[in-house]
Amino acid sequence: MVNYDVIVVGGGNAALCAALSAGEQVKKVLVLERAPEEEAGGNSRFTAGLFRLAYRGPEDLKTLILDLSADEIANTDFGAYTEEQFFDDMARVTEYRCDPDLTEILVKQSLPTAQWMRKRGVRFTAAWGRQAFKIGGKFKFWGGLTVEAVGGGPGLVESLTQIAKKAGIEIWYGARAASLVADDSGVHGVVVKHEGKTKTLSSRSVVLAAGGFQANTEWRTRYMGPGWELAKVRGTRFNTGDAIRMSLDIGAAAHGNWSGCHAVAWDRNAPETGDLAVGDGFQKHSYPWGVYINADGRRFVDEGADFRNYTYAKYGRVILQQPKQFAWQIFDGKVKAQLRDEYRIKQVTKATANTLEELVAKLDDTNGENALKELRAYNAAVRTDIPFNPNVKDGRCTQGLAINKSNWANTLDTPPFEAYAVTCGITFSFGGLRINTEAQVLSSDGVPIPGLYAAGELVGGIFWFNYPGGSGLTNGSVFGKIAGASAAQAA
Ligand SMILES: Cc1cc2nc3c(=O)[nH]c(=O)nc-3n(C[C@H](O)[C@H](O)[C@H](O)COP(=O)(O)OP(=O)(O)OC[C@H]3O[C@@H](n4cnc5c(N)ncnc54)[C@H](O)[C@@H]3O)c2cc1C
Repeated sequence: MVNYDVIVVGGGNAALCAALSAGEQVKKVLVLERAPEEEAGGNSRFTAGLFRLAYRGPEDLKTLILDLSADEIANTDFGAYTEEQFFDDMARVTEYRCDPDLTEILVKQSLPTAQWMRKRGVRFTAAWGRQAFKIGGKFKFWGGLTVEAVGGGPGLVESLTQIAKKAGIEIWYGARAASLVADDSGVHGVVVKHEGKTKTLSSRSVVLAAGGFQANTEWRTRYMGPGWELAKVRGTRFNTGDAIRMSLDIGAAAHGNWSGCHAVAWDRNAPETGDLAVGDGFQKHSYPWGVYINADGRRFVDEGADFRNYTYAKYGRVILQQPKQFAWQIFDGKVKAQLRDEYRIKQVTKATANTLEELVAKLDDTNGENALKELRAYNAAVRTDIPFNPNVKDGRCTQGLAINKSNWANTLDTPPFEAYAVTCGITFSFGGLRINTEAQVLSSDGVPIPGLYAAGELVGGIFWFNYPGGSGLTNGSVFGKIAGASAAQAA
């Protein structure tokens, strides 16, 4: 007997979008969320709720932000972020490896999918606080990232959950999917451990949206390499690759950048996995305005290679490769006001001083003598003749250093001097399952596995090496919606 039309495994953005989309066509949709209700919502809940999407200007944004006022439009330069720009960004940062068909869908469906979410009741606003600077009295957006869910990640998950419940979708919390019910004709259900009891549930189709494997220390080390067991997990502790394993067990293809991941600068003393009370506050994303030095007192990366949105996701790995797996971000008083809110949280590992000499003496586990030499050499190499402008790649660089800074190079000369200790925080793994444009999971023979669909973090082939900020939620929503619709059609 078939109990459900569609079972969705996971409780984050991709899963809830899949459930809503399936529920538009069929009646009996069940969501299995491994986390207890108080920790539900996966990595999606840890986010700032930023969505990367293509838009032509304020007219498109008004379809998402219904209360965008004439004054706000007059006082803001929203610019545009075209489909071509989104596609180019994906191609460039993934070093031209992103699956072209899936990427085309991601890009082209980014705005329509957000509009669909808006129609279903999710509210959006413009990310004034995070992605725009005020220049000459007018906000100017930069980096192609303009829209965020009201209430950030927690607001997004709460709103999707309420909409799903109102639509009659059943959600079980504390329900860990263990395996797929499958035979030669495809997938027919899920074995789940719910409230301590193992149950076999049958359904016409299954959507997997249970996240990546970044919270699985053993898999991280096995697939990403030695040292990755030392990274901190930024988000949920529940994304341990269960759904990927369940699928591989029945013959699904492994696909994408299995040794790659999204990883950022994260407070050195942050807990082992994410803390919902702090959310993304442990991240430290203002490095383009300062310099990095490692425990040997050396600079090791071009902090100003590109806008932060295009470098932050790959620099976590670079920090992990440093001696003692950490680094300092150093700023002076000139840029203090420009540092993001996360620099002002209570749980921060920081040193402050009135001179560079005093500052380096306060840097734990670090060669202060080298650090002072390095910072002085950096100061001497800055092209101060080029004006600083945070809104564009200003070309204000250093010259003649072993590792130059390409943009936004300011001298460190104004007290107070501040140093923030960061390590590598892993966000999500890039490797996963192979899907087609209908979000059907493909077998290692290259054919769809009947009844099995997937979306979100556990899909491989879209992100490689790096990632344009804000694409994770868009990816989950776009393919979640498609997976839900395809699964419902098959039901
Ligand atoms: C701190 C932080 C900030 C971020 N900021 C942004 C941002 O602003 N914008 C952006 O686009 N992206 C951001 N990201 C990335 C983004 O969170 C992810 O790309 C996206 O949320 C993934 O959505 P998902 O639904 O695939 O996975 P998740 O939201 O992680 O959901 C996976 C779900 O599966 C459940 N699960 C796991 N195993 C099982 C099982 N066996 N059975 C049942 N359920 C299971 C989990 O409990 C979880 O609910 C951020 C990530 C972090 C950690």
